[in-house]
Amino acid sequence: MTDASGVVVTGAARGIGRAVAELYAERGWRVLSVDLNLPPVLRGQRRVKADVSTAAGRERIVRAARELGGVQVLVNNAAYQGAHGSVLDVSERGWARTLSVNLTAPLLLTRALVDLLPSGGAVVNVASVQGLFAEQDNAAYNASKGGLVNLTRAMSLDLAPRGLRVNAVAPGAISTEGVLAAIADSENPAQTRRDYEDLHALRRLGTPQEVAKVVYFLGSDEASFLTGAIVPVDGGMTASFMMAGRPV
Ligand code: NAD
Repeated sequence: MTDASGVVVTGAARGIGRAVAELYAERGWRVLSVDLNLPPVLRGQRRVKADVSTAAGRERIVRAARELGGVQVLVNNAAYQGAHGSVLDVSERGWARTLSVNLTAPLLLTRALVDLLPSGGAVVNVASVQGLFAEQDNAAYNASKGGLVNLTRAMSLDLAPRGLRVNAVAPGAISTEGVLAAIADSENPAQTRRDYEDLHALRRLGTPQEVAKVVYFLGSDEASFLTGAIVPVDGGMTASFMMAGRPV
């Protein structure tokens, strides 16, 4: 894989996906940014407005990827995080949407693009610490990310004969627009921020750019013997069985 290749990044309008797309663009890659709604200008990137969970959306992505002139890396980052609720009360509709966007779409988009990926190419899935452990009242998201973690392993086995590597990152709490808004909207933002920070051994939030660098590494030849791995990018949150930073 050369350093100036093509990459498809889903959920690239904001947050981690945007940081990933920007990092690839900065490093000279041809970038196809995919989102439900993209801002009009993304420096150095081609854009496609598409819902990864629909067949029509995925067809648009495949067409745009062909026009990109080669795709070496697919980053499945888009996610739906809106269906809160416990196993007793999460709505069926929210459950279905969450599984469709976060789990089924990475499978089907990878399948749709696989013939464009040359031997030596890579898929990077953006999972979550919530795919490794569960959070109360977030059953659908927990299940979708847990599924994505093991789908990553299944993909690594099934795509290895094509010379493709498949890995995932499992971020902790990252200072994305969504997380910062949740903090700002809480009753006591300063305390909520400290609570989030204290989940991590490093006692701070991660940045989208810190996740992007690990995604980039996993997609690159620097990680040529790494496949089927789930890499926590979580400031040590999952190093402890007690939610890292909290003193026992
Ligand atoms: P975000 O919600 O800020 O952005 C997600 C983007 O995906 C949005 O621009 C949205 O429009 C797009 N999107 C959603 N559904 C889509 C669909 N069906 N088709 C196309 N685009 C769609 O997300 P984020 O916080 O930056 O998170 C990015 C990824 O990282 C997600 O997979 C998320 O689960 C994961 N993650 C985030 C955190 C965090 O702290 N922010 C922690 C762990 C994992």
